[in-house]
Amino acid sequence: MKTLETDALLSVVNEWVAIESPTPDVEGVNRVGALAARLIGAMGGRVERISGAPDLGDIVIGRIAGETEGPGILLLGHIDTVHPVGTLAGPLPMRIEGDRAYGPGIYDMKGGNAMAFAALAHLHALGKRPRLPVTVMMIPDEEVGSPFSREHIEREARAHAIVLVVEPSGEGGKLTIARHGIARYFLKTTGIPAHAGAYHAKGRSAIREMARQVLAIEAMTDYARNVTLNVGTIRGGTHENMVPLHAEAHVYCLVPLPEDEREVRERLMALKAVDPDVKLDVTPGLYRPSFVKTPEIQKLYDHAAALAQEIGYPVAGERIAGGGSDGNFTGALGVPTLDGLGVLGDGPHTHHEHLLISCLVPRTRLVARLFETLPV
Ligand SMILES: [Zn+2]
Repeated sequence: MKTLETDALLSVVNEWVAIESPTPDVEGVNRVGALAARLIGAMGGRVERISGAPDLGDIVIGRIAGETEGPGILLLGHIDTVHPVGTLAGPLPMRIEGDRAYGPGIYDMKGGNAMAFAALAHLHALGKRPRLPVTVMMIPDEEVGSPFSREHIEREARAHAIVLVVEPSGEGGKLTIARHGIARYFLKTTGIPAHAGAYHAKGRSAIREMARQVLAIEAMTDYARNVTLNVGTIRGGTHENMVPLHAEAHVYCLVPLPEDEREVRERLMALKAVDPDVKLDVTPGLYRPSFVKTPEIQKLYDHAAALAQEIGYPVAGERIAGGGSDGNFTGALGVPTLDGLGVLGDGPHTHHEHLLISCLVPRTRLVARLFETLPV
C-alpha cells in the first residue's frame, strides 16, 4: 500500500485474525504461515519453511533484500495464539467498538505481525528498500515456550545485527527494553491409595501433600523483587471414594535476574514431602532467560523514540516486561533487541483482547521508518 490508511490496515489485520491458530492446531497455524508466505512473495522476498516438529506448525522465514549487504534486521513474530478454535464464533468475535478492534490474538500478536508486513509492503510499493536486509521469522510455538523454534531463533539472531519484536506495546505504547526470565516446573506427588471408607487410615493422600507444597511454593513469591511463583494448574485423584495416588501441578515462575532463577531453582529442587510416605518429584521445564537493557538497546530505543516523536505518536517510554517473548532468547544472546513494537491495546489471552485502531497508521509508520533508517 502506497499510503498507510487506517481502513486498509485494519482489513489486513483482520485477515490474520480471521484464521484461528491455537498452538496445537497445526493446520490453523500453517494457514497463517501460508498467509505470511504469500505476503513475503508479493513484496519480492524469498520464503523458507522449517518443519519437522511433531504436533507443531512450520516456522516461516522471509528474506527481504536491503540497500546494503551484511548482517541485517531480524523481525520476530509468532503466529500461534492461546485461543482455542471456536473462540471467533463464540466468546470473542471480531468486532469494532469505538477505537477498539476485538479478536483472538489481535493484540498478542497478529496485529503486530500485520503491521510489520504492511510496513515492508509499504516500502516495496514506494519502490524503496529497507536499509539493511530484513529477515521476518514467524514462530509457530511461542505460546508454549518455543520448544521447537528456540534453536532456530538463536541461530538466526547470531547472524543478524539487530532484532525487532512486534509483540504488543506496554501501557500507553511503551517499548520493551528488557524482559524478566520465565521458568517452568512440573510437580508430581505419589501417595498410597486406599478405599476412603474403611481403609482410610492406610492411605496416604497425594492431593493433601500437593496442597501443602502449593502453599509453600506460592509463599516464595516476593513482589518487592518481582519474583512470582504461580501454581497455574493442578489435578489429581480418580474417585471421590479413594485416597488419591497421584497429583500433579505446573508452576510458572517470573525470575527477573539470572540469580533469581538460580535461587528459585535451588529452592524448588530442594522441596521435600512433608509426609514421609508420599513421594515428591520436581522436574524443571522450559526456561526463557531474562534479557536486560544494554547500551546498544538504549541506542535502539532512543532512535525509535525519536522517530515516533517525528511521526507525532510518541512511544510513552520504556518498560521491563513481566511476560516472556522470543526476544528473551535473542536479548540473552547479546544481540541488541527492541521489543514491544507491536500494537497498543489490552487483554492478551482473554475474551476482551483488543487493539487500538488509532495506533495502526503511526505504529506501522514507525516500523517502516526503523527499516529505512537502522542501523544507528
Ligand atoms: Zn505474544
